[in-house]
Amino acid sequence: MLRVGLTGGLGSGKSTVAQMLRELGAEVIESDELGRALMEPGEAAFNEIVRVFGREVMLPDGHLNRARLAELAFKGGRVKELNAIIHPAVIEAQRLRMNQVFERDPAAVAVVVSALIFEVERDARAEGEASAVFTELRKRIDRVVLVTAPDEVKIARYVGRIAASVADRQAAEADARARLVHQIPDSEKVLRADYVLENTGDIEALRAQVKALWPHLKRESNSNVQR
Ligand code: ADP
Repeated sequence: MLRVGLTGGLGSGKSTVAQMLRELGAEVIESDELGRALMEPGEAAFNEIVRVFGREVMLPDGHLNRARLAELAFKGGRVKELNAIIHPAVIEAQRLRMNQVFERDPAAVAVVVSALIFEVERDARAEGEASAVFTELRKRIDRVVLVTAPDEVKIARYVGRIAASVADRQAAEADARARLVHQIPDSEKVLRADYVLENTGDIEALRAQVKALWPHLKRESNSNVQR
């Protein structure tokens, strides 16, 4: 088994790499998806968010008003409060999902995709997290794969992916910049990653790097099974 964390700033190309790894045989776990599931009405994280941020983050139909929540968190300077609710819940869900994967296939390579692998650790440390589960990344992840690209390229890709109209593009770009401010710069992350994929060329150049990476991950996974 091998627990791989796949990270990179927004728009770096993580989801694209994850899809390529999936095609090669990796079991991919998307943290964004886990997070969304945890914020469904009735879930513990949902209840806690409404308690902390107030009923204004709820839509009339009882679901979370994600746009309003993002506004309060990112523009209102309350990201830490939101992260303190979401991160522990997502990490526990990741652990459970990885365990399920390894029960089925002890030689699996489980890839957890998260924009914030290093940030979770940093924030937990800043908060003086007592159990050290979150402050010690290497307890939950064996290898970290980082996807890098210059910030302006990341923003252009992010905007290109989500925005259709000009007004949407402006909003998306502002949103991207607000989020990037909270992310650790690539220059620091590369020092702590095990593998770095530089996504500065075209998709085929990225695919070539992923194909070269895969046998390394697979080999490490196999040798973990034999131990
Ligand atoms: P992330 O998951 O890190 O936010 P994505 O993988 O979704 O990033 O990539 C953001 C957008 O950029 C997507 O539309 C993707 O197709 C595109 N993209 C990623 N890598 C490249 C590349 N090397 N060349 C051109 N477009 C790319």
